[in-house]
Amino acid sequence: MDRQQEFVLRTLEERDIRFVRLWFSDVLGFLKSVAVAPAELEGAFAEGIGFDGSAIEGFSRVYESDMIAKPDPATFQVLPWETPEGEPYSARMFCDIAMPDGSPSWADPRHVLRRTLSKASEAGFTCYVHPEIEFFLLNDLPDDGREPTPADNGGYFDQASHATATHFRRHAIETLEAMGISVEFSHHEGAPGQQEIDLRYADALTMADNVMTFRYVVKEVALTQGVYASFMPKPFSNQPGSGMHTHVSLFEGDRNAFYDSEDPYQLSATGKAFVAGLLRHAREISAVTNQWVNSYKRLIVGGEAPTAVCWGHANRSALVRVPNYSPSKASSRRVEIRSLDSACNPYLAYSVILAAGLKGVAEGYPLPPAAEDDVWSLSEAERRAAGYANLPQNLGEALAEMENSELLAETLGEHVYDYFLRNKRTEWDSYRRSVTPYELRTLLPML
Ligand code: GLN
Ligand code: MG
Ligand code: MG
Ligand code: MG
Repeated sequence: MDRQQEFVLRTLEERDIRFVRLWFSDVLGFLKSVAVAPAELEGAFAEGIGFDGSAIEGFSRVYESDMIAKPDPATFQVLPWETPEGEPYSARMFCDIAMPDGSPSWADPRHVLRRTLSKASEAGFTCYVHPEIEFFLLNDLPDDGREPTPADNGGYFDQASHATATHFRRHAIETLEAMGISVEFSHHEGAPGQQEIDLRYADALTMADNVMTFRYVVKEVALTQGVYASFMPKPFSNQPGSGMHTHVSLFEGDRNAFYDSEDPYQLSATGKAFVAGLLRHAREISAVTNQWVNSYKRLIVGGEAPTAVCWGHANRSALVRVPNYSPSKASSRRVEIRSLDSACNPYLAYSVILAAGLKGVAEGYPLPPAAEDDVWSLSEAERRAAGYANLPQNLGEALAEMENSELLAETLGEHVYDYFLRNKRTEWDSYRRSVTPYELRTLLPML
């Protein structure tokens, strides 16, 4: 047993923890959990815990349904919130999923990201990310097609008397910090009920685990405040949606590989080629960074979400932004990808953005000129003349791009790639067939 495993067992005993939840993600990014008694853990570290994978989205076909969850002791955290006074605490660990023969499961999103990161590391890079996570606080979650009611009437950076939002953010941040997840900023976002919490950077695997934890914590804390949290990309037709802008940097040892003091924007050749990779592959990775039918309702002009494949410096209409450089911090040179939404699977989304960027670096893609104009105000013809492709406008278009993408097949692996396409085709078909309230409202009285 290694030292981290010993630390976990000792902490369980010292803190009198009765349940350990073993967490993992299905292919769509839903958090799954098996609770085990601490006495089972020594065995779980040695051999893993068996479970029936056939019931988990994307995990296995029935004939190979036995799967093994191996807890990763580096992710051990005591859950700080759900103990009514005096009750024993519980804890969680993320798991890697293995096949019965011990080899990694090809359906495990965490493994997909590990594999991508080890390719990055073969090229000499460590990958750091930090997300700005937007979401809504709502008074209700109607399931009959009505719009929900936002929990407050605040706007961008509002401090005013929105008691729910301020209390909620304080509680959520305290809970996240107690679980080792550092929060950098938080504020009210543009729409009523909309919040943003930005996490401090971490390596990509830790951050994907953090995003999974974040969504769970935020939903739990919201319930204690009598409201609901939703990460749905676009719950309101006439309000902006919830994005998850993602800042990425690559390090070679302790040197930021995106930084170059000689460049006017302090962006190195590696940084430029990385951005070029993100742009060239933007349409193919879209189905993963924006995986729901609803995701494409957010990617429209207005609402500060990207629609065109281009990059810029201070340009908030661009898909990729190279934020203003702060001269005191060479180490913070990074690029911001603005397409991701808060309902993506973070393991898969990080895998595909890193794969796209790293391909640009490996093959030395040239970076097109920056878009300094507001691309939202350009006409379709002006965009075409400027050479900006559009992001896919719906899930069907995004899936068609993904179906032709070698990069995605290779990055996700055959199993996840096939499962994802099949699952999302079904979602798209079922959406395509349904007659919407919009059509009934506008066409029925008229036709
Ligand atoms: N909500 C916007 C989006 O969907 C972003 C708003 C902002 O942070 N400037 O991407
Ligand atoms: Mg922000
Ligand atoms: Mg924001
Ligand atoms: Mg941002």
